[in-house]
Amino acid sequence: MKPLPSRIAGSGDLERLRKCQRYAGANSASGRDLEIPPQGARAMSLTLGEFQLDIISDGTFRLDGGAMFGVVPRVLWERVMPPDEKHRVTLGLNALLIRTPHDAILVDTGIGAKWSAKHIEMYGIAHETTVPQSLARLGLSPEAITLVINTHLHFDHAGGNTYRAEDGALRPTFPKARYVVQRAEYDHAQRPHERDRASYLRDDWEPVAAAGQFAFVYGEAEVSPGVRVVPVRGHNDFTQCVRISSGGRTAFYWADILPTTAHLPFAWVMGYDLYPVELLENKKQLIPQAAAEGWLNVFEHDQNCPWGYIVTDENGKYVVQPAAP
Ligand SMILES: [Zn+2]
Ligand SMILES: [Zn+2]
Repeated sequence: MKPLPSRIAGSGDLERLRKCQRYAGANSASGRDLEIPPQGARAMSLTLGEFQLDIISDGTFRLDGGAMFGVVPRVLWERVMPPDEKHRVTLGLNALLIRTPHDAILVDTGIGAKWSAKHIEMYGIAHETTVPQSLARLGLSPEAITLVINTHLHFDHAGGNTYRAEDGALRPTFPKARYVVQRAEYDHAQRPHERDRASYLRDDWEPVAAAGQFAFVYGEAEVSPGVRVVPVRGHNDFTQCVRISSGGRTAFYWADILPTTAHLPFAWVMGYDLYPVELLENKKQLIPQAAAEGWLNVFEHDQNCPWGYIVTDENGKYVVQPAAP
C-alpha cells in the first residue's frame, strides 16, 4: 500500500495543493484564465491494487452558484468558484471507469447528448469531450462496458445512459451492460415531487428498462468483486456512492454527497439537497474516515480536481491534495 501523508508535509505537496486551489480559483466561465488544458486533453489514469481507474469526462455544465452552495453567502463561495454573468458556476461531469479482472464498470454516464439548443444554452453544456469520446481515447467502445452504476437518476448523472440513434430512436448507450441503480431511486424517478421534478428525465432510463438492462439493488451491495454501492442519504433519499477496494487500498466515488472540493467544509452543502442536516451528519462521519484511511476520492462535479486525497493542513482543516496523474 502506498503510504499517504496524514498531514501535508513536503513543499512539493503544498505546491500541488496551491495549484489545485489556483485552478479552483480560476474556475471562470470564460475559461480564459485557466492554466491547464481542458480535462479531455489530460491523461487521468491511476491504478488501485489490481484495478485500473480512469476519469471519463463528459465535458462541463453550469448551474446557479447560489443553488450549488445552499446557505453559504455568495461573498464566501465566489472566492473559490467565481460565477459567470448569469450567476452560474462551471461544473465538471466526471464519470469513473473501473477496470477489474472481472468487469469494465462505468460509474455515472454524464449529462449525455440528447439536449435541445435551448437547454444547452440554459445549462451551459460544453462537450469539450463526451463519455464515448473519452472511452474511445482509451481504446474502448461502448460495447466494452459490462456494468454501469448510476449513483442516482438526476439528468447530470444518468444523461449518458441513452442516446438518440440516427433513426430517431432512443437506445441504451452501453448495449452489453447491466445498469445498476437502487430500486427505490428508480421508483422515485417515476413519481418525483415538485421539489425535484426538474432533475429527472424519462428518456434517461425508459429505453434501458425497455431493453431489460436494469439490475436493481436494495441497499448496500457488492456489484462486482471489490466494488460496493453504498447508499448515503442527504442529497436525496437513495443516492448510492461507490466504494472500490483492491490491494488494501480504497477509492470512493462521492457523487453529489461531496460534488466538488469546494464542498469539503461540512456545512457547505447544496441548496438542491433534500435533507441538508442529514447530509451534514453523514459528511462528518465519512470525511474523517476518508482522511484517516487514505481513500482516493472522486469529485464528480469538480472540473479542476476530479480526484485526490483528503488531508489536514497545518491548522487541522480538511483540504484536498490532488492525485497526481
Ligand atoms: Zn443529484
Ligand atoms: Zn449532480
